Amino acid sequence: MLISLVVPCYNEEESMPLFYAEASRVAAQMKESHGAEFEFIFVDDGSRDGTLRVARELHAKDERVRYISFARNFGKESAIYAGLQASKGDYVAMLDADLQDPPALLPEMLDTLLTGEYDCAATRRTTRQGEPPIRSFFARLFYRIINKMSDTEIVDGARDYRLMCRSMVDAVLSMGEYNRFSKGIFSWVGFRTKWFEYVNVERVAGETKWNFWKLFLYSIEGIVGFTTAPLALAALVGLAFCMLAFVMILVVVVRAVLFGDPTSGWPSLVCIILLCSGVQLFCTGIVGEYLAKTYLEVKHRPIYIARVTEQNDPAANR
Ligand code: UDP
Ligand code: MG
Repeated sequence: MLISLVVPCYNEEESMPLFYAEASRVAAQMKESHGAEFEFIFVDDGSRDGTLRVARELHAKDERVRYISFARNFGKESAIYAGLQASKGDYVAMLDADLQDPPALLPEMLDTLLTGEYDCAATRRTTRQGEPPIRSFFARLFYRIINKMSDTEIVDGARDYRLMCRSMVDAVLSMGEYNRFSKGIFSWVGFRTKWFEYVNVERVAGETKWNFWKLFLYSIEGIVGFTTAPLALAALVGLAFCMLAFVMILVVVVRAVLFGDPTSGWPSLVCIILLCSGVQLFCTGIVGEYLAKTYLEVKHRPIYIARVTEQNDPAANR
């Protein structure tokens, strides 16, 4: 039984050795208990620091360590895809390099899959400790909105940390879309998932790569990727405005006929024009967002471009 650990790394030179130490400790323990072999796949997502150098060093020391280095920063979603594609394991786990996803949970997760009842062991954190309150607020809001709009369930607080069986990995890989929103993809493919809960852990070294703006764009990605409800919403708003306009016309005509009152109204007119053109632009924006994603999708650009892997790296000193 081979277990692949896929680790996306973007500027993680400080965390990687710590991660490797902890992961190999767990690997040794699981070799005893489950007879499991391991491979570690570090995906260097176009880092500017010594991430690739550390990966090479680890590979030289331990041949279970493999790596893929991207030609530039493609984002965590691409890194996960590349790692899954390279993985050879019967079971594949994805973990952050910063030890926010404790490898110590792996034995328990594997036990769940070995019962045959479940195909995937996923994790969610129960607290958002150590996170700015404003970010937690918007995160909660996002989960509420997307779960109202989309049939695909997106679990609040779900981490990307999960252990999957081979058939689920293949299903995820078969979704070759360019705009990747992992949380949605994992849920969309289905399979039986058991959730493990744990308390949020702070990263061991380095700093988070996400700022508010990036998270906001990521949330739009999730919504556009997994529901078309906003398009219907735009149509509904249009319909509501038409009906409102019809009622207003009646009111104005009746008032003019019965009372001879030519409604005066520069201010009201300006307000109506502003409101209506605002709504129109907003709805066009929604349509544009879908069009843009479609445009990116039909170009069929690769999800990632690898510069070197441990197999073709001239500097891989074995
Ligand atoms: N990551 C990546 N590419 C990116 C951004 C992040 O591969 O463009 C990796 C990063 O190295 C880490 C994981 O994704 O292993 C999660 O990132 P981070 O810890 O910054 O996110 P957070 O835990 O704060 O949500
Ligand atoms: Mg982290």
